Amino acid sequence: MNKISCDVIKDLLPLYYDNVCSVATKEAVEAHTASCADCKLTLDKLKVSIDLPLGTIEKNKLEGNGLKSVMAIWNRSKITAFTKGLVLATSVCAVIYLGYLGLTQWNITDVPKDVIEITNVSRMKDGKIAYHVKMTDGYNVNRINFKSDSDGNFFMIPVRPIIKSKKFADIGLANMYDYVDLKRLNAIKKDNGKEVEIQAVYYGSPKNPILIWKKGMELPATNDAIEAQFHFGD
Ligand SMILES: [Zn+2]
Repeated sequence: MNKISCDVIKDLLPLYYDNVCSVATKEAVEAHTASCADCKLTLDKLKVSIDLPLGTIEKNKLEGNGLKSVMAIWNRSKITAFTKGLVLATSVCAVIYLGYLGLTQWNITDVPKDVIEITNVSRMKDGKIAYHVKMTDGYNVNRINFKSDSDGNFFMIPVRPIIKSKKFADIGLANMYDYVDLKRLNAIKKDNGKEVEIQAVYYGSPKNPILIWKKGMELPATNDAIEAQFHFGD
């Protein structure tokens, strides 16, 4: 077999490297590079010079695959995206709605003392204590909480949600005549095993309440017009 010249081998090396040559060419190149240091070096350089961009190509391929994977997940997600979106939107709506309910319905705020106006405190014929209460800030009161302590102090605590309303402020709990029935309250306390009689009645937060009456305090008699308001059912 004729010895193939180095020039021919060098021309064939790229084909050999890319493995796109015949078996005969492959064997010829391997036989030559096994004994020719120059051609072996050229082949090695070819590997190095091609390996770098090849490495980059492989990396790009991987990134391409990565992107494909992301796209695959994305496409799969699209199927459930609507459901997810719906669930999320529903959750957000629920949170907003609950928050709205909370801010407008939960009566967690004591009405501050400086907007509570208690007037016309008087003693009704049957001993009840009548009074007029008005919230001077014009906002309604949603509920009155009652609380008594072991010293016989009785508190009527007007409460509001954080978002307060002016609705019914003129005719509701924020502007009305009302009364305290001490006899009945004492009876209830006794039923609950608390012997301490009510010593004082306050309106507002126990931290800073307005005194309506305390034991020993003389009150004017309730006028007939006001008293009549509490007796329309009789
Ligand atoms: Zn050679």
